[in-house]
Amino acid sequence: MMTRLSVAVIGAGAGGLCAARHLVDRPDTFTFKVFEQTGGVGGTWVYTDETNTDQHGLPIHSSMYRDLRTNLPKEVMGFLDFPFHPTDQSFVHHSDVLKYLENYCNYYKLGEHIELIATHKAQDIATSFTTDILPQLSSVRETSVSSL
Ligand SMILES: Cc1cc2nc3c(=O)[nH]c(=O)nc-3n(C[C@H](O)[C@H](O)[C@H](O)COP(=O)(O)OP(=O)(O)OC[C@H]3O[C@@H](n4cnc5c(N)ncnc54)[C@H](O)[C@@H]3O)c2cc1C
Repeated sequence: MMTRLSVAVIGAGAGGLCAARHLVDRPDTFTFKVFEQTGGVGGTWVYTDETNTDQHGLPIHSSMYRDLRTNLPKEVMGFLDFPFHPTDQSFVHHSDVLKYLENYCNYYKLGEHIELIATHKAQDIATSFTTDILPQLSSVRETSVSSL
């Protein structure tokens, strides 16, 4: 029996998504997971006004600026098997590139293979708040109420 190769892809930017799209095509050969440190896919095309660190304490990765349009035409930028929307202008706004990458991710059903580490961490924090911290707060409140 053939053993499948386990692959870890680091990052869900354009490069990681493209790797995932080709790995997902060969389930007999590969098992894989994409590890993305932020809370979403798209890498550098995720624009934010924030600087330094994000809400998860991670360094702001992107150097996009608000009005950036691509410096390559979409006809050259797109993946060969997944063209940009035909009505888009050739030099598209950065938000259209992000939408394009999200559509690519959805079309090839890559989401189930991507672990968004920041979201995961945020969920861990939320769970730990509910299970560990809230009960302690309640007992402190009960103690202080009962001592009145
Ligand atoms: C301002 C600007 C304009 C650009 N304009 C164009 C253009 O017009 N046309 C064009 O074709 N290209 C352009 N580019 C190039 C752009 O870099 C590529 O299009 C493409 O986005 C690169 O994808 P990537 O996956 O290699 O890297 P990125 O988009 O940088 O993605 C890397 C991903 O890996 C994640 N990551 C990093 N380290 C870790 C870790 N240790 N663990 C988990 N996750 C990790 C990051 O969070 C990120 O999501 C531009 C780039 C910039 C900065």
